[in-house]
Amino acid sequence: MASFEQQLELELEDLRTAALLRRLRPLASEHGPWVDYQDRRLIMLSSNNYLGLAAEPALKRAATRAIERWGVGAAASRLVAGSLELCRELEQRLARLKGTQAALVFGSGYLANIGVIPALAGSADVILSDEYNHASLIDGCRLARATVRVYRHRDLDHLKVLLQDSQNARRRLIITDSVFSMDGDVAPLAEIVELAQRFYAATMIDEAHAVGVLGQGGAGLAAALGVQDQIDVQMGTLSKALGSYGAYVAGSARLIELLINRARGFIYTTGLAPAMAAAAAAALDLIERQPERIRQLWDNAAFLKERLNDAGFTVMRTDTPILPVLIGSAQAALDLEQALLAHGVFVIAIRPPTVPPGTARLRVTPIATHSREDLEQAAAAFAQCARELGLNRR
Ligand SMILES: *Cc1c(COP(=O)(O)O)cnc(C)c1O
Repeated sequence: MASFEQQLELELEDLRTAALLRRLRPLASEHGPWVDYQDRRLIMLSSNNYLGLAAEPALKRAATRAIERWGVGAAASRLVAGSLELCRELEQRLARLKGTQAALVFGSGYLANIGVIPALAGSADVILSDEYNHASLIDGCRLARATVRVYRHRDLDHLKVLLQDSQNARRRLIITDSVFSMDGDVAPLAEIVELAQRFYAATMIDEAHAVGVLGQGGAGLAAALGVQDQIDVQMGTLSKALGSYGAYVAGSARLIELLINRARGFIYTTGLAPAMAAAAAAALDLIERQPERIRQLWDNAAFLKERLNDAGFTVMRTDTPILPVLIGSAQAALDLEQALLAHGVFVIAIRPPTVPPGTARLRVTPIATHSREDLEQAAAAFAQCARELGLNRR
């Protein structure tokens, strides 16, 4: 019989053979339009640092001041002694941004989703979940004891059939990403809200990639579509465009009170670190003062998308600054990733199980602080790699 270590080796070998082995790539610098990696300066096109705020001086200052004023750790879970006034202020601020009565901050988006969903859906309930929902939503659904019905990606007809099919449930909860992180497309929220009302279903959205990117003041997709007050649970993160770490849920005062009492990903974990809360608040300030950052992000994405198309790449249909460059096989995506690294561009191949088999891709994300020259240089590297690898002969 194989030893534990031998078993692990076999499993790793399987991943290696399938070109699905993953590894860490430690950066030697802070995040920005360029990063240091293995003694080289590379154009960063693989972050969620959409607005370039992760290392923005105003955020660093806010975080540093918060450490001086509030210390490093929250020292307890929120319900015990880990609830600082700083967090409450951030929560009020987020509620304002989201147009809700209240908000609750979580340690991370993953924790929020695995905490909130089981708190809202139990064994008598049915969850309707988009097939491309983020892994944290899927895990939240698995932890809930509810029946989970997965509808085809953005397919309203399918969603309607599942709603018709689940009339006996105590509660129905429709859950969707607002921006799908690996595809860059958005959920048809207005239509989903309409269906939800017709079938007396509740709605939960994950705005992780929408906050700071879509809507007035970066309020998200629901705000952009004017349906904020028709969505029951608006979840989002502080860790992407806002450049910090942590997450939130915004909704009615009743919802938040229930989550404080029931969401295990809130209750059984230490409160958000003061520096992270302060940095997120500073990010919201900055976006208010510099709305042009959002425009710059979109302009940069439009520019790079055109250049990648010109170079013969297939940029999948996207509604956001996320540019998924479809490659196909995991190995081909890895080869391109490697070639791009050699040509000064940091962009990581996204492979199954994160995306469906046969749709491995490079998820290219320019940020607001890339210059036109940076993007020109990146596009030239893509074109060069395509020639070297014999891709995209048209
Ligand atoms: C990144 C992400 C999360 C997880 O957020 P973290 O704060 O990084 O844990 C949740 N949902 C979506 C859609 C995400 O992209």
